[in-house]
Amino acid sequence: MAHNAELISVGTELLLGNILNTDARFLSRELSKLGMNVYYQTVVGDNPERLRRAVETAKGRADILITTGGLGPTCDDLTKQTLAETFGKKLVFHAESAERIKDYFEKNLHNAPMPENNLQQAMLPEGCVVLQNDWGTAPGCIFEAEGCHVVMLPGPPRECEPMFSAYVAPYLRELSGETIRSRTLKLFGMGESAVESLLRDRMNALQNPTLAPYAKTGEVELRITAKAASDAEADALIAPVEREVRGIFGDLIYGADVGSLEEVVLAALKERWLTVSCAESCTGGLIAKRLTDLPGASAAFKGGAVTYWSENKRSLLGVPQALLDDKGAVSAEVAKAMAEGARSAFASDLALAATGVAGPDADERGNPVGLVYVALAAPEGTFCRELHLGQNRDRVRTSAAHHAFDLVRRYLQDIPLELEAAK
Ligand code: ATP
Repeated sequence: MAHNAELISVGTELLLGNILNTDARFLSRELSKLGMNVYYQTVVGDNPERLRRAVETAKGRADILITTGGLGPTCDDLTKQTLAETFGKKLVFHAESAERIKDYFEKNLHNAPMPENNLQQAMLPEGCVVLQNDWGTAPGCIFEAEGCHVVMLPGPPRECEPMFSAYVAPYLRELSGETIRSRTLKLFGMGESAVESLLRDRMNALQNPTLAPYAKTGEVELRITAKAASDAEADALIAPVEREVRGIFGDLIYGADVGSLEEVVLAALKERWLTVSCAESCTGGLIAKRLTDLPGASAAFKGGAVTYWSENKRSLLGVPQALLDDKGAVSAEVAKAMAEGARSAFASDLALAATGVAGPDADERGNPVGLVYVALAAPEGTFCRELHLGQNRDRVRTSAAHHAFDLVRRYLQDIPLELEAAK
């Protein structure tokens, strides 16, 4: 049976725009992984009457209602009291939670005396399942009433997220009586709308598994999700759709259930015992940063140079002055010379380079914003891809780094380098 879940986020600071509703983002994602529909999210301030009205509306259209926030001692237990009243439940004292709260104060707050009103957090709706809070003080809870499963979670994300994963997700999984598995194919080199138009008919026709695209800057994720009685059955439903999608997009797909392009690159470098370095101009160190964000990068990444000024492209990377004068710093020739210079300076097997115009203005030679060259120097030769990445500075830099990783990923996977891509 399909379940409809609805979220109510309680907190005036959310309405004022002081904080982002990251709890709702997290919960919606997790619920979708569990195969639950989320048709509505509501944000309501710390106001019992408006919360009551939001709950009345939600319970008429959802069978799972999840609230976040308003469980702390500061808001007079607004959420618990209001929800208990709305569903005709009494709040009763839960001794075990009271002990845990006292304990938490002693252990984590260095024996600071516990304010009496903290004990209010141990007042919980009668007959509820108590969700113990191992990450803070306010316990969460679940109860069932009027055909609705009501879940209350604390607001702080460091409490809300682990409490959901540890206690609520298993509870919801049990409700559905089936497993949900998904596989995410990551694709680089085609925009979301092009991907979607190739898949639209297929996506509309599919019911189990479902197929859905998600766009990230310069990348697209395709998630195939199946529901079945067992993991093996769900996997068997996913496999033919994955084959079909791979048939359509071929080597644009750089991985399945993988983190990022650079993660795939690092794994492939390690597998082949190869090292890489980089020389960066317009990306300003982004390529090196993204590689070194990954634990274990030192096994393959030797180092990088950010050479913003032309004279440093010459003095640090050995790019010939004549090339800089003749072709300009933003040119395929200089990108290649930078990659070769880094490969030799860092004594690495491979080297990446990026040079281009990130904007907002064209460069002194009149090269337009968004023109970028990324290059890969390898023992077999040096390869360069010319890119036209639009006007947005952040996007230009992020996409340039993506393309550099895509070049080396293709080299490492022995597939065509697509030097003409994105022209
Ligand atoms: P506490 O016991 O800390 O008072 P609580 O359950 O009462 O927890 P709130 O008082 O509503 O939660 O919020 C506490 C803090 O948690 C907020 O100041 C905010 O930083 C964070 N928070 C609350 N709701 C959200 C949300 N939906 N998304 C992200 N952060 C949130």
